Amino acid sequence: MTTGTPADDPIPLVDLRAAHAEVAEQVREGFDRVLATGAYIKGPDVGAFEQEYAAFSGTRHCVGTANGTDAVELALRALELPPGGGVVLPANTFVATAEAVVRAGLRPVLVDADPEHLLIDPARVAETLEADGGAVAAAAAGRDGRPGRITALLPVHLNGQLAPMRPLLDLAAEYGLPVVEDAAQSQGATQHGRPSGSWGRVAATSFYPGKNLGAYGDAGAVTTSHDALADAVRLIGDHGSGRKYLHDRFGFNSRMDTLQAVVLRAKLRRLPAWNAARRAAAARYHALLADLDTLTLPRTLPGNEHVWHLYAVRIHPGRSRDAILAALHEAGIGAGIHYPVPVHLQPAFRSLGHGPGSFPAAEQAARELLTLPLFPQITEAQQTRVAETLAKALTRTS
Ligand SMILES: *Cc1c(COP(=O)(O)O)cnc(C)c1O
Repeated sequence: MTTGTPADDPIPLVDLRAAHAEVAEQVREGFDRVLATGAYIKGPDVGAFEQEYAAFSGTRHCVGTANGTDAVELALRALELPPGGGVVLPANTFVATAEAVVRAGLRPVLVDADPEHLLIDPARVAETLEADGGAVAAAAAGRDGRPGRITALLPVHLNGQLAPMRPLLDLAAEYGLPVVEDAAQSQGATQHGRPSGSWGRVAATSFYPGKNLGAYGDAGAVTTSHDALADAVRLIGDHGSGRKYLHDRFGFNSRMDTLQAVVLRAKLRRLPAWNAARRAAAARYHALLADLDTLTLPRTLPGNEHVWHLYAVRIHPGRSRDAILAALHEAGIGAGIHYPVPVHLQPAFRSLGHGPGSFPAAEQAARELLTLPLFPQITEAQQTRVAETLAKALTRTS
């Protein structure tokens, strides 16, 4: 056990060893069980985890995948949208959201975030849908009526809180579009009491090690209450095969490993308590940082229960974020930037044709955000040290 935090003890952005310590025994027992049977792919623990995670998400089905990017792609492929169709997603997300759209043979249609919560802005989505032809034209043409029309909405539940789902579902209903949730950063979060992953027709999540529910390698899942979509995801992610060596449709390989399912089952039991600990830690940062007027603290959208995947403050213009980040690193504090370059300014997505200035809120967030260490086991002493170091750095760089 640690007995305090000496001034030079590193404070990581995320402490995966502390989480492992809590589940180590259960994981070891589970690994022994899997090693004894040799069922490394689609073993019994995968099915058990899928049931447990579906129950946790308030959906009928969960299908394990090899990672979260595949989960987004599989969710989109299962919907059988017209090839080249547009999929609306926020410009300020991890690049995987946009990658999965391209991989599914669809076209990313980026929109800006609401500058206060940094979640996809329904007003911008509405404008984009109107510019795409409007509701009346959409109904007249049908979704396949014109190539490249918008065919789905893909909101991202960024940093641990849900995008504004009611207005987005209203728009989706008006335009006859399915909603796919990117729930990679929001395991256990709710909006008006309804869980992340249960709002859209289908949802994708990631169990990358650093996520709130993290595996010991890559893993992901799709959740849905539509039987046919769950079947399609399972089929496409298993070489299009429902029966051994018979391939009913074209697919690829994206399945969950049994060893990862063992880890995820052990951690899922602790996730509600871990998310509560994250909320307590976020509240502590709010209190510790409230008086710093050169910072903007992260805001929670009304109706959301946040799970604080990331606690990201905004450094006001005129302060050097680079210098502040360097000062934190110098003091052994693993602060980070999520994400320094929005999707539309990534060289890989240059072909979308958006220059600087296209999405001002996303661009400003990319310039200002600074993520502080936050994980369920972070101590008050560690947070106090982060806050004091940050305050000092802000004065020095003023
Ligand atoms: C992590 C993440 C993904 C992709 O997950 P991987 O498991 O790393 O493939 C997708 N979308 C968002 C928003 C993410 O944060």
